[in-house]
Amino acid sequence: MFVLKFGGTSVAHAENIKKVTAIVREKVATGKALVVVSALSGVTDALLRCGTLAALGNAAYKQDLQEVTQRHLDAVQNLLPLTHQSALLSRVMQQCHEVEDLCNGIFLLGEFSDRTRDKLLAYGELLSSQIISTYWASESLENQWIDSRQMIVTDSKFTNATVDVAATEEKIKDHFAAANAQLFIAPGFVAANEQGVTTTLGRGGSDYTAAIYGAALNATEVEIWTDVSGMMTADPRLVTNARPIVQISYHEAMELSHFGAKVIYPPTVSPLMHKGIPVWVKNTFAPADYGTVIKAEVAGNGNTIRGISSINNIALLSLEGSSMVGIPGFSKRLFEALANSNINVILITQASSEHSICVGVNENAAERAKLAVDKAFSPEIEAGKVNPLSVETGLSIIAVVGDNMKSHAGTSGKMFAAIGRNGINVRAIAQGSSERNISAVIASADVKKAVNVLHEAFFETTYKQVNLFVIGTGNVGGKLLAQMQQQVQYLQQHLHLQIRLIGLANSRKMLFADNGIDLNNWKAQLDGGEPMELQQFVQKIEEKNLRNSVFVDVTANAQVASIYDQLLERSISVVACNKIACSSPYVHYRKLKDLSREYNAAFHFETNVGASLPIIGTINDLLRSGDAVQKMQAVLSGTLNFVFNNYDGTRSFAQVVRQAQDEGYTEPDPRLDLSGTDVARKILILAREAGEQLEMEDITNQPFMPESCMQGSVEDFYAEMERQEPHFRSLLDTANAEGKKLKFVAQYHNGKAAVGLQHIDPAHDFFHLYGKDNIVLFYTNRYTEQPMVVKGAGAGAEVTASGVFADVIRAARI
Ligand code: ADP
Ligand code: ASP
Ligand code: MG
Repeated sequence: MFVLKFGGTSVAHAENIKKVTAIVREKVATGKALVVVSALSGVTDALLRCGTLAALGNAAYKQDLQEVTQRHLDAVQNLLPLTHQSALLSRVMQQCHEVEDLCNGIFLLGEFSDRTRDKLLAYGELLSSQIISTYWASESLENQWIDSRQMIVTDSKFTNATVDVAATEEKIKDHFAAANAQLFIAPGFVAANEQGVTTTLGRGGSDYTAAIYGAALNATEVEIWTDVSGMMTADPRLVTNARPIVQISYHEAMELSHFGAKVIYPPTVSPLMHKGIPVWVKNTFAPADYGTVIKAEVAGNGNTIRGISSINNIALLSLEGSSMVGIPGFSKRLFEALANSNINVILITQASSEHSICVGVNENAAERAKLAVDKAFSPEIEAGKVNPLSVETGLSIIAVVGDNMKSHAGTSGKMFAAIGRNGINVRAIAQGSSERNISAVIASADVKKAVNVLHEAFFETTYKQVNLFVIGTGNVGGKLLAQMQQQVQYLQQHLHLQIRLIGLANSRKMLFADNGIDLNNWKAQLDGGEPMELQQFVQKIEEKNLRNSVFVDVTANAQVASIYDQLLERSISVVACNKIACSSPYVHYRKLKDLSREYNAAFHFETNVGASLPIIGTINDLLRSGDAVQKMQAVLSGTLNFVFNNYDGTRSFAQVVRQAQDEGYTEPDPRLDLSGTDVARKILILAREAGEQLEMEDITNQPFMPESCMQGSVEDFYAEMERQEPHFRSLLDTANAEGKKLKFVAQYHNGKAAVGLQHIDPAHDFFHLYGKDNIVLFYTNRYTEQPMVVKGAGAGAEVTASGVFADVIRAARI
């Protein structure tokens, strides 16, 4: 005997019922079959809503009932030929009238007991099974309809009755011994108590009905036909990359379903496990897909875990008190209090200090739990030995499940490292001694992110998704987006990184796209975006709560630089070419570095100095390997180097500066470069990275620009520079007369830093420094005589963008 169960979506309407019929027809050709069906999808919910509305005296239930009736009539009319419809239509109508009578009664009495509820909800499965049975008969698919209420005996715990296994098995065996059909059909979910009063097996209980029949009949196998191609590695509604599990052990399947994998109703597996009957989970809408087989012994799949699941609406109850230590029977009293109030405990943890015991229960039991536990411990609470029960809500449980965990060290390390890196706070942890399940209690708002992060860590060897939020679409920002667009494929193929741009903004507009902004035409999309508001941008990043989020600041804006701490505190990595944050007061710089460490979020700013030249990375490497920087000598302004390299007296100084600006080497306001402020910021950042606690004010700056140039607008500045041409000319002439070149040099030595114009003689490393190149000489404990030299283009949108991009990839790979 095969037992096949079809869920609500599988029998939602005539079209789907025809698909079911084809599957059943094929099965019956190979042997006897019993088919268990759910109600048409949504009908159980609709009936429940009718009862609830009626009990509240709300006549709107009539409308709902009308719709329920119509759905069943439609199914009949679309399944049966006109000539065969009338008998079934009148049976359906009659039962719908009974439903209406029941609801009218509830409406009049204002009372909706659990007993009445079961009676009402049972109509869903009774109707669906009768319609399908009659349809099959009309299609020459002979079958016998069985009333599960006469087969499955339960206690009187309405809404979630407990099955009397022995009595049930006897009835089923007796019935089938005498029956000689090839095909049977029975309603799922419904049963009856010893007195024959209708009960139900709990929401989702049709799976369990199939298991009960399967176990009683010693079925060859039980097939659960649903709307997904098997039990998946995670809930497919949460994880797009979830994939079907080919084989899974009974224990693993039970653990996953108890921890929220809704695809199988939790009590289903146990009766079949005891008889060693395999269970298949198959897709009605893709019957050729393999699906999942649940059985005793399964092959390893190369993964330490088999699946991930989650349960929402959890409340965490904590009982704490200094005097709990060593009091015998303490936990017994706690669990007794909960059990006496019929509260199901989902998770338990107790620290070995015995100061506190923590249990997870369904949120809707929290209030009852509080009353019961506080009452049970009232003497100790009054005596101040124990605190009143603390109740925390808004929580969920995530669980990783797998038989294989037993033999593998490091599963929990991997689990908590992955979620910790993404700023997900864990409230409680439990691991059963079977080592088949590790569960963690987290905020419900973090569930989607956590499940995805875990899925990525345990299953997706294919790639890691990185979610970017970029502010700044100017010279550097534009180039960055272009480079990303060009490189996305490569990164996916070679580094297994899937980079998605989720948020983009400039000073006017901001834009978000959950599946990633199309990098081919971001400009047009951003123009159509919403007005930019920085705090809203931050809020959006936080709300989206995406794993592996990286924020990228490609502006030179102080306000943008002020949001890094908010982001790092949420474990969101920050990449900046903006150097304002790192050159702000030391305490702030330190705070950002500390937050980065504390919250496991990257904070990279290599392009603060020398565009994409490896300068900061070099200092970091030197320090990490035990070296110490004694002295740095550097030309750090691409702009100033360009200006002094090109200023030879044939054009005015102002004209050369203008060219540097036009070619995109300068800061938006070139005075930041010419005043030496920008260089001072850079040497400050390098000194700090080398371990020095320096402030901007500590840096000596000998300006070469006349004071008069530094006032007014940028245009005033150009005009005044023209007027001051003799001053610049005399600087040049003096240097030329000595056979030297002008270079604006930054220096750090023995804890002190200075910037200023110097005359460089031909023997110096700086003499042959062309274009907009930068150079840094590092003198360290290991590089004493000859410095380590880093040299190359130190400005320009393309190279700066590539440095930012490299930082983004670095951030993504932690
Ligand atoms: P049916 O009506 O057929 O009984 P259910 O809605 O009860 O179907 O269960 C199937 C649904 O369970 C799927 O559509 C899927 O959204 C959800 N689900 C949750 N977790 C998992 C999982 N780990 N594997 C497969 N499906 C899951
Ligand atoms: N129809 C019932 C419910 O929706 C039982 C089931 O579908 O399994 O809960
Ligand atoms: Mg179900």
